[in-house]
Amino acid sequence: KGSISCHSLTQGYLSRIVENKHLNAFLEVFEEEALTRAKVIDENLQNGTAGRLAGMVIGLKDNICYQGHSVSASSKILRGFDSLFSATVVERILAEDAIIIGRTNCDEFAMGSSNENSAFGNVLHHIDNSKVPGGSSGGSAVAVAADLCLATLGSDTGGSIRQPASFCGVVGYKPTYGRVSRWGLIPYASSFDQIGPFTHTVEDAALLMEIIAGADEQDSTVSQKDVPSYTKQLTLKKGAKIAYIKDCMESPGLDPEIKKHLEGQIAQLRADGHTVNSVDFPYIDYMVPVYYVLTTAEASSNLARFDGVHYGYRSESATDIPTTYTKSRTEGFGEEVKRRIMLGTFVLSAGYYDAYYRKGQKARRLLQDKTNDIFESYDFILSPTTPHTAFEIGRKTTDPTEMYLEDIFTVQANIVGCCAISLPTGKHSNGLSFGIQLMAPSFKDQDLLAFSHQIMNK
Ligand code: GLN
Repeated sequence: KGSISCHSLTQGYLSRIVENKHLNAFLEVFEEEALTRAKVIDENLQNGTAGRLAGMVIGLKDNICYQGHSVSASSKILRGFDSLFSATVVERILAEDAIIIGRTNCDEFAMGSSNENSAFGNVLHHIDNSKVPGGSSGGSAVAVAADLCLATLGSDTGGSIRQPASFCGVVGYKPTYGRVSRWGLIPYASSFDQIGPFTHTVEDAALLMEIIAGADEQDSTVSQKDVPSYTKQLTLKKGAKIAYIKDCMESPGLDPEIKKHLEGQIAQLRADGHTVNSVDFPYIDYMVPVYYVLTTAEASSNLARFDGVHYGYRSESATDIPTTYTKSRTEGFGEEVKRRIMLGTFVLSAGYYDAYYRKGQKARRLLQDKTNDIFESYDFILSPTTPHTAFEIGRKTTDPTEMYLEDIFTVQANIVGCCAISLPTGKHSNGLSFGIQLMAPSFKDQDLLAFSHQIMNK
């Protein structure tokens, strides 16, 4: 509307970042660069040449490369490393005049559910500073929720966009696997990773999606399918068919208020003329184990490149090649990352490959097939995003298994490869927000965004 310039908008966000420094959401702020760019974009707006993201001030999770800027995946091992090229998503948002304001804190190499695994300190929940924001994209979630920028990009391997979005009360979108290029995303588990947006509205998520999605020569896993104009089609056909998994609703760890909220949503959807049925899916207990067998295997391979030679940190006490590798890795990686590398190496080792990795792959296929069976008869699967609201800092750090169970409802979409969203519809009596999750079949991103928009704008 022209009521505010990009320059003063950027200035506003920059001062909010300073005021909220204690949240530790940003690892670095590109202050001058953002302001200089904002001036150029203001001129573009005046002369009518501005791109579709003019006015969008965006934060980038610290595992997405931006040429000439540091990127660390919140790890000591990448301290001092600057990106040699930009991620495809970065090039695409810049081409549409987005302003990148800084890089956001996250769990080291995107491994975690609370942002407590960052080598640069944890992120605080913006409403209750004694709570975690969720993870691994905790900084990206808080940056949007606390109005430190308009939107952020995160990555989701098992829930890292949706879970913190749920904890912080914003929209978090995990695209279909192969919809968005992973070029320039520091990999964790390549057959699960997707980049996606955190926003206040579904409309903004749709806008970012139509810009970042689509074929890319640099990533052969990206689909060649055309990208629909998601923002132009935010109205859904009437009468969706929605399934909810009985075992998810009956899950013993599910907070009673979240359950009640979901029951209310189901009743509302029915009242609005949609079909909502419960379905049997007795495989929920296999999700988290399959996820952790396969993602740690992929992580152990992906993280082999951080060896004290190619990138970032090298141990001061290394004296030859073997000690360069071992000491640099021992000192450079945090505990959780090391745990996963060792677990992944174990499940891939000759004696255990069949028992773990191969079996995990078979189980993944089964879970994909069984989920797709549901999608034969239903447009969407509805569930909670998280079993509870944001928890206290330190509460789950001593028990990795308990932390891994945080992902109980979110890993399914990554195992299957389908798209999923967390919508901030819930408010708990403890004052914290929580989300509901909708999943849709692969490449039905358009339907998922449209239906989500409808739910949020009733
Ligand atoms: N919390 C999950 C994990 O620790 C998911 C992380 C992610 O999606 N990057 O692996």
